[in-house]
Amino acid sequence: MDLNFTAADEAFRGEVRAFIDKKLPPDIRRKVLEGQRMVKDDYYRWHVILHEQGWIAANWPKEFGGPGWTAAQQHIFEEECADAGAPILSPFGLRMVAPVIMAFASPEQQQYYLPRIRSGEHWWCQGYSEPGSGSDLASLRTRAERVGDKYIVNGQKTWTTLGHHGNWIFCLVRTNAEARKQEGISFLLIDMKTPGITVRPIIMIDGEHEVNEVWFENVEVPVGNLIGEENNGWTYAKYLLGHERTNIAEVGRSKRRLKRLKEIAAKQPGSDGKPLLQDVRFRDRIAQVEIELMALEITNLRVISADMEGRAPGPEASLLKIRGSEIQQTLTELMMQALGHDALPYQHAAMEPDFSGEVIGPDYGVPLSGQYFNFRKTTIYGGSNEIQRNIISKMILGF
Ligand SMILES: Cc1cc2nc3c(=O)[nH]c(=O)nc-3n(C[C@H](O)[C@H](O)[C@H](O)COP(=O)(O)OP(=O)(O)OC[C@H]3O[C@@H](n4cnc5c(N)ncnc54)[C@H](O)[C@@H]3O)c2cc1C
Repeated sequence: MDLNFTAADEAFRGEVRAFIDKKLPPDIRRKVLEGQRMVKDDYYRWHVILHEQGWIAANWPKEFGGPGWTAAQQHIFEEECADAGAPILSPFGLRMVAPVIMAFASPEQQQYYLPRIRSGEHWWCQGYSEPGSGSDLASLRTRAERVGDKYIVNGQKTWTTLGHHGNWIFCLVRTNAEARKQEGISFLLIDMKTPGITVRPIIMIDGEHEVNEVWFENVEVPVGNLIGEENNGWTYAKYLLGHERTNIAEVGRSKRRLKRLKEIAAKQPGSDGKPLLQDVRFRDRIAQVEIELMALEITNLRVISADMEGRAPGPEASLLKIRGSEIQQTLTELMMQALGHDALPYQHAAMEPDFSGEVIGPDYGVPLSGQYFNFRKTTIYGGSNEIQRNIISKMILGF
């Protein structure tokens, strides 16, 4: 493929940039760029603005309501949104369950769910992991027993990201306890307002509420909410994970963080009193991560392009996940180092947009230690990086 952007691509970039300039609410932009605490409404407002423009489902085929963009246009759109300080779009509906629905659900299910994902009426979360079933996901124990035209679901999911914001959850459930473990799993869509569901917060290392436990007690789910065939859920689950891992690469956002790192290093003094950005060793480290990010960007474009030609992301998604998450962590580490001892205090209250107290160190330093700790998650979620290396060794290298 040709990886150069054409004149038409550059014109498209201009169109996207002008739209964001006009439509992205300034309070949301400020929160994102300054690392302040976000609430669900911030994400939702931007979701609705993009939906009204017809741009919410950037990676969907046209027949399902996508804008019909090329791989390059999708990439440019992501890049411009990230650079301008647009909030991240919740991936669970748009980028995870939607591809599964498009590929494996019935036409009736597609007609029901896909427009609601686009409009934001359905806000999804992911019910895969359970205590003891993370890396060994196929050992999951949440049961769904079929009784007439319903499944009765009992069990517990954990680490459910933004489960407190969600009104729908896609779950892997065990429908056959006798079969080989991968062959007794089904893929079920569950309305979170159904009686018997309890969501409990898990507070992360940075003190924030981002993940949850979700408990199911005799939850009745219509059989019509099953995707594809009963006991074939493992196939759909893996298909979804390919899309999840590609998405985790986060090239656009890492580019914005790299820019931020350079701005901080230009302001912070090094040991000789000159700006840190002039320190040869620190510059070397920035250059190294920048080169890795450029290589990731090209690889990401190749995977998006193949996906558009009908080749769903396979084991190469694991490469993107490993390298993308490592780069994200390196960037947060370098920002902490650039800040020096001012990075030590974690100023939790100062993350609120209306905080008017005094901060320790420069304003731009406030969110950095929280981000550093929060980003430890990136090499764990979406399947840990050790597991991704196992996949690469088996599926790509053939060991
Ligand atoms: C912030 C965060 C958000 C998450 N969000 C969601 C979500 O929304 N929905 C969801 O379903 N899940 C979510 N997860 C769960 C995530 O997918 C799991 O944490 C992950 O798959 C690892 O599973 P585990 O935590 O059970 O660790 P374990 O599987 O117990 O692994 C522990 C350690 O052992 C290593 N290990 C395990 N097996 C092997 C092996 N065979 N070879 C080499 N090393 C191995 C792992 O790499 C890891 O370092 C989230 C996790 C985090 C941290």
